[in-house]
Amino acid sequence: MSCIFCKIIKGDIPSYKVYEDENIIAFLDISQITKGHTLIVPKTHVKNIYGLDELLAKKIFQAVPKIAKAIKKTYNPIGMNIINNNDKPHQTVDHFHIHLIPRYKNDKFKIDFINRQDQFNPEDYEKIESEIRQNILDLEE
Ligand code: 5GP
Ligand code: ZN
Repeated sequence: MSCIFCKIIKGDIPSYKVYEDENIIAFLDISQITKGHTLIVPKTHVKNIYGLDELLAKKIFQAVPKIAKAIKKTYNPIGMNIINNNDKPHQTVDHFHIHLIPRYKNDKFKIDFINRQDQFNPEDYEKIESEIRQNILDLEE
């Protein structure tokens, strides 16, 4: 097993572990984009969001508020970004994980939410809505 997070879960390589239960482990991201940057990782090896079933998703995501609140209580950040990268361009470890990134005044981390509303007309929105809606219905069948 070459997965670095599986090795961390097994204890074969060390980590700074802030929380663990039977389903998940939470440890400090080695990169510490900001102080307190933490990863929430399922103990089951699943590559990314597309491999999660509802039960595993529930087990992972239900831990998120607790750990986010603990980071907030610890460092009193001005905000918190919760990020999950799937495939390209940003997923570098192929074991599902959620980044909790507390935000501080003048930190160097940057996310650009560019408003492209001017490039879409109501028909575009309707088409996008119906395309995604249909695929959700297909997945529910
Ligand atoms: P991704 O880019 O896949 O969303 O995030 C992977 C994250 O895993 C990166 O932020 C990286 O710093 C972190 N990471 C990679 N290898 C290790 C490691 O061995 N230990 C820890 N604690 N974090 C790691
Ligand atoms: Zn793994």
